[in-house]
Amino acid sequence: MNAIANISTSTHRLINVAELHPHPENPRIEPRQEIVDQLAAQMTAGMDPSHALIVRPRYAEDEGFEIISGHHRWLAAQQAGLSEVPCWVRDLSDADAYMQLVLCNTQSELHALEEGKHAADSGMDLKAYAEASGKAYKALYNKATAYRVASVSHVGIADIRDQWRNLAEIHAAPRWLWSALVAEMTRSTWTVAVTRERVAAFKSIGECLPWMNQSAIAEALVAGLMKPSEIERMAATVRETKVRDEEPHHFLLGMIQDLDDKKPARLSDVQAIVAAYESDQAKHDAEIRAEAIAKQRAEEDAAKRTHGLRANCSLEQWKTLTEEDRAMLLSPLPGLGGTFNQQKNEAIEWAQWSWNPVTGCKHDCPYCYARDIALGERMKQSGIYPNGWEPTFRSNALNAPATTKVPKSAAADTRYRNVFTCSMADLFGRWVPSEWIDAVMSTVRDSPEWNFLFLTKFPQRLAEIDVPDNAWMGTTVDMQARVKNAEKAFEKVGGKVKWLSVEPMIEPLRFERLDLFDWVVIGGASSSKQTPEWRPPYRWIESLVRQCDDAKVPVYMKTNLGIANRIIELPFDAPIQRDPQQAPDAFNYLGHSSK
Ligand code: SF4
Repeated sequence: MNAIANISTSTHRLINVAELHPHPENPRIEPRQEIVDQLAAQMTAGMDPSHALIVRPRYAEDEGFEIISGHHRWLAAQQAGLSEVPCWVRDLSDADAYMQLVLCNTQSELHALEEGKHAADSGMDLKAYAEASGKAYKALYNKATAYRVASVSHVGIADIRDQWRNLAEIHAAPRWLWSALVAEMTRSTWTVAVTRERVAAFKSIGECLPWMNQSAIAEALVAGLMKPSEIERMAATVRETKVRDEEPHHFLLGMIQDLDDKKPARLSDVQAIVAAYESDQAKHDAEIRAEAIAKQRAEEDAAKRTHGLRANCSLEQWKTLTEEDRAMLLSPLPGLGGTFNQQKNEAIEWAQWSWNPVTGCKHDCPYCYARDIALGERMKQSGIYPNGWEPTFRSNALNAPATTKVPKSAAADTRYRNVFTCSMADLFGRWVPSEWIDAVMSTVRDSPEWNFLFLTKFPQRLAEIDVPDNAWMGTTVDMQARVKNAEKAFEKVGGKVKWLSVEPMIEPLRFERLDLFDWVVIGGASSSKQTPEWRPPYRWIESLVRQCDDAKVPVYMKTNLGIANRIIELPFDAPIQRDPQQAPDAFNYLGHSSK
């Protein structure tokens, strides 16, 4: 104010109109062309010096002058063809220049929105601005808020400058509704009261979310085509979606991106987008569930297969197994399998236990009772031999020596320590994988508390075995044709006890090297499916016993020979029952002993 107060006492100077520039913060939003025309008409003879413009040097550009007051006169001078106009040059600060822009314009020259713009753009507190400009605060506040609303409206300022009071009312609505409200106000020619009433309906409405089509929603709301509650339902549809953001499918991020791209304006549009992603998510979840179920089934099948293989692995299955599967079977899983089978009849009377980590045999002997058992109806129903008579490895059975306790009776009778091993097989048959034999022999070696008795009709293979002391290796010789082969093989067989099983004795036998054996068992045959019950003639037995006596080999006569005073001898430290050396004393009727 003070800087301008002494203008009348200053001297003006003529400045070329081209050197004059409008002030960038001139509050006038638009020049009044009728005023410019009127002033231009008065300047045909030049501008009256008393109407000189107020300008200041353009310090920032270092050239020309910035108009503080006289923007209309400057335009009129150009329209009138004047090259120079009288100006008062004042050295004003930016702040002073800014205030002079409004103070030097007469009230009639600036409309309300221009006043509001100047106040709003001043960067000053409105009260301070009101004081500095000498204007009423309340009116200034309304003009500033009206200008703020107008500045975001798509309706031209010229069309709404006279509705600045309506605009001030609209300012109470959320900012994102201003443009739509201004447009509807203009279209429907609302009064201030109607504007206030319409705005009241939107005062408490929430914000549009970034992915919503704000302008379209605002227009629909203002036009009454949409209820405010629909905005919350749109937000809730997204907020409550089941779509998740998880690796590797970022469905939720994709959905938000899709919403952002499509900018839905209606609840149905949002629901359609969300439903599409929920469907994708559901399909994905179903796939994951199906994969999990398939995986679980595969694991269950694998576990079932492993469980089955551990119990019974046929030779044919073994041939198809990987090294890993084979290694798994060769290492028994602790806790599986049972104990030895305790003998309940006299079939194997020289051993009170049997153990079958391998079953099945390909020798096809006609009198084979083991085959009859394995293929019998009872065993079929029990499932104990699921592979029938096919050679089968039973990994679980490898645990039996460790899980069976040696009975106290073994101290007095070796037969309670004896385990007929592979009573349902020929462990050393040509077809038996060496890994099966090694697994059995390793278990035997780890169980020194037991004697394991083996029998084979293929004794050549025994020569390849490193025989532990507690393995009694034996071979069956039922006919003379097997004698030579057995004697040849046993020249090379190791072990502490080597024995010969002559059961069933099918014909008289003549041995050359019974001294190779530590024990001979002689027996007949119970009936089988293919053969009748058989007891060898006494003379055959007697002949063989004599050969054993000559070779000093203990003899064990099986019950199935049907001999009353049979010889029951066992090798080494076993209890031995020899032939009676004398009749009981009750028979001593001549008064002397037979000794
Ligand atoms: S060798 Fe033994 S198990 Fe094999 S078929 Fe002959 S009797 Fe049966």
